[in-house]
Amino acid sequence: MIVSESMYDLGSRRSVIRDLFEYGKQRAAVVGAENVYDFSLGNPTVPAPDCVNEEIRRLTETMDSITLHGYTSAQGDAETRTAVAEYLNKTHGTSFKADNLYMTVGAAASLSICFRALTTCAEDEFIVIAPFFPEYRVFIEAAGAKFKMVPPETKGFQIDFAALEGMLTEHTKGVVINSPNNPSGAVYSEETIKKLAQLLSDKSREFGTHIFIIADEPYREIVYDGVQVPYVTKYYDDTLVCYSYSKSLSLPGERIGYVLVPDEACESSRLYAAVAGAGRALGYVCAPSLFQKVLVSCMGATGDVSLYQKNRDLLYEGLTKIGYECFLPQGAFYLFVKALEEDSDAFSEKAKEEDLLIVSAAGFGCPGYVRISYCVDEDMIRRSFGAFERLYRKYR
Ligand code: PLP
Repeated sequence: MIVSESMYDLGSRRSVIRDLFEYGKQRAAVVGAENVYDFSLGNPTVPAPDCVNEEIRRLTETMDSITLHGYTSAQGDAETRTAVAEYLNKTHGTSFKADNLYMTVGAAASLSICFRALTTCAEDEFIVIAPFFPEYRVFIEAAGAKFKMVPPETKGFQIDFAALEGMLTEHTKGVVINSPNNPSGAVYSEETIKKLAQLLSDKSREFGTHIFIIADEPYREIVYDGVQVPYVTKYYDDTLVCYSYSKSLSLPGERIGYVLVPDEACESSRLYAAVAGAGRALGYVCAPSLFQKVLVSCMGATGDVSLYQKNRDLLYEGLTKIGYECFLPQGAFYLFVKALEEDSDAFSEKAKEEDLLIVSAAGFGCPGYVRISYCVDEDMIRRSFGAFERLYRKYR
């Protein structure tokens, strides 16, 4: 055999989301782009805040190009990491330093690094909470660990603690949480985080292990109605934060984010070294230099979240009025909707007949639901209601 069967398999199969997006492009060529309602991707549509382009211009005009585009330290520029630490401390009342941060190429890399850094043998397990970002399984299995999933709690899309408790074992290395959540739009309440922290502390003590929380937070700043997103390190010491500027600064193509390793985590200096080691082993060293430097002047800036809120309100109200059962998102930019038949794959296929591209949540561990991404043009949302209505009438 010439190539790895598992890597071949991953590389030759597109994700359901990508498949739908590609299908949309083909359909647009046939029926016209204005007649295809593509709600498939989570690609930010709000422009990056002005500070991003201003800083790119300033840096390219004033800084010598060798330094600007050269390799940074493997873990990232000290100036960038200091700026991130200071921003986090100011915002959350924490006391991080530059050396708690490892710069990466986005949350995907941050997660892969954490799983790799914590995996010690093939029995190690990571638990995800459904609905979950499907790439978690890819990253966890690539790290050589086992993937386990807690079924969804569909009332408020928080955590089914009874199910989670039943899954924790002496092999559990970490529990992955993602709040604000892709795909449900739920934000985990402080009560949920406290309960999770208590359960994992109790179980770690019982097993004589350390069960980590891996907090995947690319949507932290995209929240509505003043909802608060608890900062997990304040509730639980053994936490690793995976952050990305893909969504908050609308920079998904630039690939910039970080892993945060708090001092309070067990063996924190060894843990940080293992994070750096995993970064090295996976080739995630020296995150993009230009964007590390841009970040320094953009701490706390975001794209205009009110535009997502406008879309959320428009879509939620429009679909609810037609009769769809929708979960009101508190954050991120996805509307989670009950499919009109049990088989959400079939429902998503049926929606294609109306040129509505909505993603079945079966792949997110939550069959019976669909994800409708509303980081799209407001105008497309308005034009899509007729198609949503026709789809509804096919069932009711
Ligand atoms: N985690 C979640 C929940 C996401 O939705 C995404 C991207 O959509 C990622 C991680 C990966 O983000 P990045 O672009 O920073 O790699």
